[in-house]
Order: sequence, then structure tokens, then C-alpha cells
Amino acid sequence: MRPTIAFAGLTACSGCQLTLLNCEDELPQVAEKFSIVHFSLGMSGGDECSPLDAAFVEGAVSTPEDLEILLSLRNRSRLLIGVGTCARWGGIAAMKNDQSRKELAAAVYGDSAHSLLTFAPGPLHRFVTVDFTIVGCPPEKTEVLATLASLLHGTLPVFPDYPVCTEC
Ligand code: SF4
Repeated sequence: MRPTIAFAGLTACSGCQLTLLNCEDELPQVAEKFSIVHFSLGMSGGDECSPLDAAFVEGAVSTPEDLEILLSLRNRSRLLIGVGTCARWGGIAAMKNDQSRKELAAAVYGDSAHSLLTFAPGPLHRFVTVDFTIVGCPPEKTEVLATLASLLHGTLPVFPDYPVCTEC
């Protein structure tokens, strides 16, 4: 039976999801080997309820809607896999966490936006258990594909630790 997977995007630029879409040569095989029930960037609609073998999640949690999506995916998926720097460390959305929510909302949306930004944006693991993360901004195609290949064997890959900055 084909593993059932989903790709979801929270607050982010969608570049991580694009990485998979850019695997043109491998996509037919991915579609053949997996049942993809939801892909935010790659298909409209999708199945929002069925159990999943793995949920791939891009982006940071920065809105109540993000949190709702993440909790739903965590509840229905055996494995939750973060994809990219935003998912692992919070990315750009979390870079402003040293400023007050009220100040930021007013600066971006005006005084009427006091109900926005009700909590500090953060990486996935601040809110749910994350089983594995593919890092990178965006991640390497080879690592996304290697993760998918491992899932077919019921395992997860081991990737090398990358230095943050090789020049420092
Ligand atoms: Fe975009 Fe990079 Fe965040 Fe992926 S990790 S969503 S490519 S900013």
C-alpha cells in the first residue's frame, strides 16, 4: 500500500514546497509511489481529514490559522516532518520577536490591527513534536527526495550537520 503524505505551508515564502515541484524528473515516480492527499502549492483542494503516514510542513507558526493547521496535521499524521529553515528556526517571521506584537501590528497594518499577531511566531517544535527536519533555505532537492525514499522503507535518512557559515 502506498504511503499517504501531505505537504502543507504555514507562514513562509513557499520556496520549500517549490523545491519538490522543481524535481520535474522525479515527480512522476513520487506520484506513483505515494498517495499525495494534500499539497498547498501544487494542487487545489485536497483531503483535510484522512490519516497520514507523513506530513511535510514548511514555514513558521505565526497566526492562529497556522497553529490550527499544524495541530490538525500532527493529530492525523504518524510522522511530522519540518521542511526548511522557517520550520526549524522560525525564519524571517520570528526575527522580529524582540519587538512587541502591538508595535509590529500597528507598524504594518495600522491601529485597527490590534487583534493580529497575538503570539510570537516560532518554529514547529515550539508547538508540537517534530519527528524530523530537512533543513536549508530552501532544502536541497536531493535531501527532500532522500527523505521520501527513506519513507518507502519505513525509515528516516541521516544527513550531515551543516555549518551555519563556512566563512566565519
Ligand atoms: Fe522560503 Fe527559505 Fe522559509 Fe523555505 S526556509 S519557506 S525557502 S524562506
